[in-house]
Amino acid sequence: MADRQINKKVLIVDDDQDMLHVWDRMLRREDIDGTFCAGGQGALDLLTRQDFAAVFTDFQMPGINGAGVLEFVKKKSPATCVSIVTGLATLEGAVSCVKNGACDYIAKPCEAAELIVKVKRCLLHHQERVEMGELRQSVRRYEELDELKSQFVSNVSYELRTPLFSIRAAFDLLSTELANGDPVKARLSKVISGNIDRLARLIGNLLDYSRIEKGVLSFVFEDVDLAAVVRQVAQALEFLIQARGISLLAFESSPLSITGDLSQLTQLVTNLLANAIKFTHPGGKVGIELKDLGEDVEMVIWDTGIGIAGENREKIFERFYQVDGSLTREAGGTDIGLTIVRAIVENHGGTIELHSELGKGSRFQVRLPKKPKAAAQGGSHA
Ligand code: ADP
Repeated sequence: MADRQINKKVLIVDDDQDMLHVWDRMLRREDIDGTFCAGGQGALDLLTRQDFAAVFTDFQMPGINGAGVLEFVKKKSPATCVSIVTGLATLEGAVSCVKNGACDYIAKPCEAAELIVKVKRCLLHHQERVEMGELRQSVRRYEELDELKSQFVSNVSYELRTPLFSIRAAFDLLSTELANGDPVKARLSKVISGNIDRLARLIGNLLDYSRIEKGVLSFVFEDVDLAAVVRQVAQALEFLIQARGISLLAFESSPLSITGDLSQLTQLVTNLLANAIKFTHPGGKVGIELKDLGEDVEMVIWDTGIGIAGENREKIFERFYQVDGSLTREAGGTDIGLTIVRAIVENHGGTIELHSELGKGSRFQVRLPKKPKAAAQGGSHA
């Protein structure tokens, strides 16, 4: 923006020819592009055809006066700065113009030096208005694009979900029969099943993400045994664990009940555990620990994987953030898993902390109240 040409076109409107000469001399000296006009109607004609950065108009003129010029400029080119030039007799009218949107007023008689300061100030002001308008336009454009993207994500994930459900159901019916004791076919069945699960997880994340963006991620609170959720998720991800050659340390916990949304808590554990598996090299370990802290429960999902550098530890919770690195690229993903995790934790009134060391592994420590306030307030919310 620094190098760009500043619009220096100034329109001077005054029915006093001597005054117009004074302006002319002064603007020429300062290399400012002046246009001069002896009355309100002429000014309106010029303003219809050209864009000016600033207009300096006498207040009292026969026909259309300074207030009329101001009104026209406000409608036609709101970025143009209007200053009212006035004698003492019409000072009040000029002040009311300032209340109505004029940038300034100049009381006659006035020194040339003062006039030039005011002109320069108006040109700067106009420039700021133009830049602010452009900035607003860019923000609006980004918001529109963001909205389009959200709508697209939402539509696509809904469209993908239905056929995937049918594939899952049909495959479950066929798989036992297909394998029929043949170990190779049984292995292939597992591969298909594992990948159907993976697709379902991705689509689930996309749907949740769209709901979070729209503020309609609804929660139905009930009694949930978190230990059972962990076991069920670990079982669902067993194929992924085996495929990556990772060992999941035996999970031991007696039932641990909290008030929460079953499907969201399942998603929370799934996303954290799937990441731990994805970002750990073959031969590595992952584990889940649950602790009863009285009013809260603590769940830690840890891995001996690639770890996360200090500068990335906050950013990975932002949407569409992926740490650069070969394993990260290889593992793929939608980069919204942790955004969803954070939203779920927050909606349960909990906190999440990340402890990690590059090359050594990560620990995601989630603390959830057994009785979230949101549940007491009615259960279902965004
Ligand atoms: P994705 O859906 O791609 O896994 P997430 O939002 O879940 O996206 O994670 C964002 C990024 O955070 C990942 O792409 C990865 O770079 C990093 N990350 C998340 N969990 C771990 C982990 N356990 N170990 C190392 N890096 C991780």
